Amino acid sequence: MSALRQFFKSSLKAMLPPSWLLIQGPQSASSTGAAEVALTIDDGPHPEHTPRVLDLLASAGMKATFFVVGDSCRRYPDVVRRIAAEGHELGNHTWFHGEPSRTSTATFLKEIQQTRQLLRDLTGYDCRLTRPPKGELTLGKMLGLWRQQQTIVLWNVDPKDYAMHDRNEMLGWSKKYHIRNGDIVLLHDDQPYSATFLDRLAAQSLKQTHFITVSHWLSRHEVMSVDRQREIGRNLSTHEEQNAAALKSPLAS
Ligand SMILES: [Zn+2]
Repeated sequence: MSALRQFFKSSLKAMLPPSWLLIQGPQSASSTGAAEVALTIDDGPHPEHTPRVLDLLASAGMKATFFVVGDSCRRYPDVVRRIAAEGHELGNHTWFHGEPSRTSTATFLKEIQQTRQLLRDLTGYDCRLTRPPKGELTLGKMLGLWRQQQTIVLWNVDPKDYAMHDRNEMLGWSKKYHIRNGDIVLLHDDQPYSATFLDRLAAQSLKQTHFITVSHWLSRHEVMSVDRQREIGRNLSTHEEQNAAALKSPLAS
């Protein structure tokens, strides 16, 4: 990623609330003190790799977020239903996963709507998370997504599994990866190496790490926002009471 793009991303991250753009989860400790990591798995569903990934997640007690492609959901609806039934989260990854520079804003937004509708039909779940293919967006696409009340979800950890050639490459990367609180890890289930990574994570029996869905953080942020609003509300009313008392006291005395 170019330095300019990195700068643009971190500026946006600092300016926008997580419900608009999420690149990394909260790095502050969770209430339990455990690290929280979101595994995000893109480009499926795939008829072989996705069920294998789901088996591994189930046996390790991990939750993940699957950014699915609409056209593959149409072909493998049972896999989509299984993702939802096992408590994982579904995110929107467009209908055709076209090359971003060749996809117009209108086509992109239409594909988001089409995929959202299919996910609703298959699972009853109204998908509010979008990950654009390759993480590439224009201002027009971003504004269109926010108008559709979508949270744009990117990532901060990328093993580049799509460019790997064998399991050993993934094992090599996994050994070097040190989990940090708030990591959003990008994986793909249209090829086999995400399963290799999950296998290794499960073998490490990470008791101090919780693998959570992306919405877990968003709901935590909303709770925090509501708490903050209440706090502001309380401070304001205390301030108003003090002002009222100060105004009343000269009259009362
Ligand atoms: Zn993708």
